[in-house]
Amino acid sequence: MITTDVENYPGFSEGIQGPDLMVEFRKQAERFGTEFLEEWITQVDLQQRPFTLHTDHKIIKAETLIIASGASAKWLGIPGEAKTPHGFGGNGVSACATCDGPLPAFRNKHLVVVGGGDTAMEEATFLTRYAKRVFVVHRRDKLRASKIMQDKAFHNDKIEFIWNTDVSAIIGTHEQGVTGVDLRNVESGAESVLNCEGVFVAIGHKPNTDLFKGQIEMDAVGYIITNGHSTGTNIPGVFACGDVQDSVYRQAVTAAGTGCMAAIDAERFLDHLPIELPSGEEVTIEGEHITPDHKLIITPSGEVISNEPEAAFAEGE
Ligand code: NDP
Repeated sequence: MITTDVENYPGFSEGIQGPDLMVEFRKQAERFGTEFLEEWITQVDLQQRPFTLHTDHKIIKAETLIIASGASAKWLGIPGEAKTPHGFGGNGVSACATCDGPLPAFRNKHLVVVGGGDTAMEEATFLTRYAKRVFVVHRRDKLRASKIMQDKAFHNDKIEFIWNTDVSAIIGTHEQGVTGVDLRNVESGAESVLNCEGVFVAIGHKPNTDLFKGQIEMDAVGYIITNGHSTGTNIPGVFACGDVQDSVYRQAVTAAGTGCMAAIDAERFLDHLPIELPSGEEVTIEGEHITPDHKLIITPSGEVISNEPEAAFAEGE
């Protein structure tokens, strides 16, 4: 978690530090018997159940999987952007106006928003509630944002646009935080300094889904697709929650909410898996018996039906 001050998570009237909130989440989960394994997953196989996950040291088999790997804000990769003490990240530089915009450090100040998409327009408009002036710095002379979001920003007299311009560095001191940005006009090459006390990088997010590519349904950007009002994916037994499947709300509280949905969905999925008896026969929650060779299902009323896909297909023809 890179957010420091969390002001919009319910239950903390005075706000809470992001890392402290994570510690609380963990302690609460441990109280209910959750085991934590702190390792990187290097490879997954979702083609058959149980699913297989590889770490550098272990192979894990699981009947269900909840993917909650989140999304990462994209960064510019410029001097001054890194997390403090290496740069001003957390000390004037942010990638989330909703999280950080209301903080005292940004109130009644000059702020820069970098980007030209809907996120940049939304963040700039949101920041005008608190800032004295918001400068949107965009590398082209046209916005990528939807017309309605553009219009909202264009009609806001606290927002000023700086076109065809890159931010080449964020400058400041460790005592004061951010004091300005170095700008470079991409057409003329002209360089200038813009004084400001905060920089919001709003150039998009990347869902952390590279590990699952080619194995699960995703949209064009790489967000995992969930089915309707559930956390189910196209693979039965695999669920996704939080920012890895949500490019719209992206808040800790919405992620926690879909996390709860995923836990319920996974529990119901497990409840409906057949239970294996010592005889090799399996029984489902509906009371159906599956023969040890998996070829026949005997319903509670005694009807015997084939469990073979070809037979089911032939029947449906
Ligand atoms: P986008 O990819 O749409 O826009 C990213 C913006 O950042 C572009 O203007 C791009 O410039 C600029 N950019 C990218 N990389 C750099 C870089 N290295 N240096 C400088 N500028 C850069 O991302 P968004 O997060 O804005 O939107 C993602 C999706 O979420 C969209 O579908 C959007 O509609 C949706 N969304 C909807 C909202 C709403 O409806 N309320 C709110 C927020 C997002 P360029 O244009 O030159 O490529």
